[in-house]
Amino acid sequence: MLLAVTGATGQLGRLVIDSLIERGTPAAHIVAIGRDATKLAELEALGVQARAADYSKPGTLAEALDGVDRLLFISGSAVGQRITQHRNVVNAATDAGVGFIAYTSAPRADTTDLALAPEHKATEGFIRESGIPFALLRNNWYTESYFQVLDQAQYTGLIIASLGDGQVASASRRDYAEAAAVVLAGGDHGGRVYELSGDHAWGYDELASVVGELIGREVTYRRVSAKEHRKILTKAGVPMAQAAFVVTLDANTGAGALAETTGELSTLIGRPTTPLRETLAQAPVLST
Ligand code: NDP
Repeated sequence: MLLAVTGATGQLGRLVIDSLIERGTPAAHIVAIGRDATKLAELEALGVQARAADYSKPGTLAEALDGVDRLLFISGSAVGQRITQHRNVVNAATDAGVGFIAYTSAPRADTTDLALAPEHKATEGFIRESGIPFALLRNNWYTESYFQVLDQAQYTGLIIASLGDGQVASASRRDYAEAAAVVLAGGDHGGRVYELSGDHAWGYDELASVVGELIGREVTYRRVSAKEHRKILTKAGVPMAQAAFVVTLDANTGAGALAETTGELSTLIGRPTTPLRETLAQAPVLST
């Protein structure tokens, strides 16, 4: 049984590879797929089969998926290009006779207003249409995405956002990676749609309090309007389109797109998800 992981050279993918090995999958039965040659070489040193492929180059995907039985397809990072890229991956998996695909999607990808969801919804569609047995791993946010908040708060004592009292049911990358490893390694997951979230949804007042404790100064969450937020971001040098995207995501979050706690992640991994504070305590800025 050959288990493959795309995005294996990335942060989530690497944790999945580690988790598969820790859980008893022989390294030789794991195919680690990515682009970065240096990171592929590091993975090869673990004893896994490292294969180079690019989501934009179908020929490379065909070679990388040769002989693969079960595939964890980690979504790409090129927002805006992923519909074509992801269609390539699903087509290559179909041609290669892959027997199962687990895909890292977004919360309620088929019904949410979340600005990042359309590419995930389209990919879920390609997978369903392919006829390959599948599981959807609809991951909420990574807590690690908030490391940068600590950098800013250290200088300003502020967290500025336009999501009002919106909440985020984030979990650590390791939590999601373990769940992906569990699903990839086997068992009865065919047709399952997992809404994976942290056990606890937190708001930005709580975030400010936790960040304040960690950096050792008082931190306040300043609520601003969408218009004001966009202005602050562009004034700080953030390109207009990116600023608009951040503000839209805040609006989505304010409307509850990331607030749902389902308990499905902790059930899959057999332990509670990692608390906000525990993950934020690993922020690089705290060790410099
Ligand atoms: P990373 O940026 O650390 O890793 C992205 C991985 O995707 C890398 O292995 C990269 O390969 C691979 N990749 C990107 N584009 C291509 C391509 N064209 N062809 C082949 N491989 C490609 O991201 P994370 O591990 O942190 O997150 C994994 C995914 O989760 C992201 O790609 C994104 O879709 C999503 N995400 C989710 C977040 C959340 O909070 N839920 C937050 C951020 C991202 P290489 O490095 O070898 O080029």
